[in-house]
Amino acid sequence: LAGKTQKVAVIGIGYVGATTAGILASCNYEVVALDTDRKKVDQINRGRLPFFEQGLDKLVKRAVEKGRLAAATDYEKLRDADLVFSCVGTPDNPDGSSNLQYVFEAAAEAAKHMPDGAVFVQKSTVPVGTGGKIEKIFADSGKKLPYVSNPEFLREGTAITDSLWFDRVVAGSSDKRTAQKVLDLYRSVEKCREEIAAEAGVSPASRPAGQFIITNRNSAELIKVTANAFLVLKITFANSIAKLADRAGADINEVMDAVGADQRIGRAFLNAGRGYGGGCFPKDVTGLISSATEQGVDLSIMIAAVDENESMPGYIANKAKSVLGDFKGKKIAVLGLAFKSGTSDARRSPGVKLANLMARDGAEVTAYDPQANEEAAADLRKSVRLCDSAEEATKGMDAVFVATDWPQFVGMDLDALRKSQRGDLFVDCMNRFDTATVEAAGFKYLGVGR
Ligand code: NAD
Repeated sequence: LAGKTQKVAVIGIGYVGATTAGILASCNYEVVALDTDRKKVDQINRGRLPFFEQGLDKLVKRAVEKGRLAAATDYEKLRDADLVFSCVGTPDNPDGSSNLQYVFEAAAEAAKHMPDGAVFVQKSTVPVGTGGKIEKIFADSGKKLPYVSNPEFLREGTAITDSLWFDRVVAGSSDKRTAQKVLDLYRSVEKCREEIAAEAGVSPASRPAGQFIITNRNSAELIKVTANAFLVLKITFANSIAKLADRAGADINEVMDAVGADQRIGRAFLNAGRGYGGGCFPKDVTGLISSATEQGVDLSIMIAAVDENESMPGYIANKAKSVLGDFKGKKIAVLGLAFKSGTSDARRSPGVKLANLMARDGAEVTAYDPQANEEAAADLRKSVRLCDSAEEATKGMDAVFVATDWPQFVGMDLDALRKSQRGDLFVDCMNRFDTATVEAAGFKYLGVGR
C-alpha cells in the first residue's frame, strides 16, 4: 500500500462514517463515502454535513472542494478501493438484540464490488461473532477480502479530537499483517493530526499516547461492547448511590469526587444524573445482553443497569412533583434535548423522556435545545412546545429542568432567569450547578443525590 495514494471507501455517512471520511480526506487520502440515503450523499457533495459535529463541517467542505472526498449511493465506486471502512448503523430490534441488517447488506454489496485483496474494515459496533459470519460471505464471493474488526470509540461532540488523539486503536484479525495495515493508516493520521485539528478549529482536552492493539477478531468485537457496558455500569452505579444520598442527606458529587480520587476507581463516568441515552449505550448494552443470552451466559448485572437507567427520568420527575404538588397545569421548561452536549443527536434522550413524562402528567411543557430541536421533534409529545431560545422557553414558567449540560445553560445568568420565571424551582438533572449559587439567585434547587 505504501508509495501511492491510498484509495479509501467509507460505507455509511453517519457520525462515524462522516468523521472517518472527513479525517482521512484531510490527511490526503482519496475518499469515497457511500450511503443509501441520497439526501446525505447530495449534502456531502455540496460540501455540507448532514448533522452537527464540532469542526467536521469545515473538514468536509474543504475535502470536497479539494476533490479528496466525494459521496455516492453506488457501490460500483468501491471498484478500486484499497481499504473499505464499514460504518453503517447497528440499531436494536424491538427485543433489544442488535439489528445487523445494514451490516450484512453493506458487506454483501461490498463483496460484489471490492477488488481482490482489498481490506474490509468493520467500524460498526457488532455482537461478538459477527465478523466470522461476514468472512463466510466473503469466502463465498470467491475473492480474497481480508476482514479486520476495528471498533470505533469516538464520542459525538468530540468526534474529531477523539479520532486524532485516541486512547487506543484496536485491529482484530486472524492475519496480523492485515491488521498491521489498518494500524499503519492510523499512524499516518497521527502524523497530520495537528494540522487537521487546526483546520477544524478544535483542540483536544488531553493528548493520550495512543496504544495500537492487535487482537483476534472476536476479542476486538468484544472489547468495544465491553468498554461501553463498563461505562454504563459506572453511570448506573453513581445513580443508584445518588438515590441513597438523597435519602441520607449526602451530596453525591462530594461522594464521587472522593471515591473517584482512588486511582483504582477513577472519577470519570461517576456522575449521577438523568441517566444515559443516545444512539450507542442503550442499544449496545441490550445487544450485549442478548448476544450473551444466545451463548448461554446470563448478564444479569447489565439487565439491572438497564432497569436502573430507565428509572432515572421518572425519579427526577417525582422529586420535582414532591415540590410542585401536581404537574397538572404547571408550566415547566426543559432545557436540553440532545442526549448530551455538543451534538444534535436526540436518540433515546433523557431530556425528551422527561419532557414527555411531565407533559403526559398534565404539565404545560416548553423545550429548547441549541442543536437538537429538529431531531427531537419527532419523539416529543405533540403538546410539548419547542422554542427557539432558552429565554423563550423559560419565560413565565414554574420550573426549569436543565437536562443537557450545554455550556450556554451551565453559564446562564441565573438572576435574569429567576426574574423571568413565575415559580422558583430549578432542577439540575446533571448535577452541574453549584447549589449555593442557584439558591442565591432565589431558586429552590433540586439535583440528583444532592
Ligand atoms: P448513523 O445512524 O448516524 O449512520 C449510519 C449510516 O449508515 C446512515 O447514514 C445510513 O443511511 C447508512 N447506511 C445504512 N445501511 C447502509 C448500506 N447498506 N449502505 C450504505 N449506507 C448505509 O450511525 P453512527 O452513529 O455513525 O454509527 C455507526 C456505527 O458505529 C454503529 O454501529 C454505532 O454503534 C457505532 N458507533 C457509533 C458512535 C457514535 O458516537 N455515533 C461511536 C462509536 C461507535
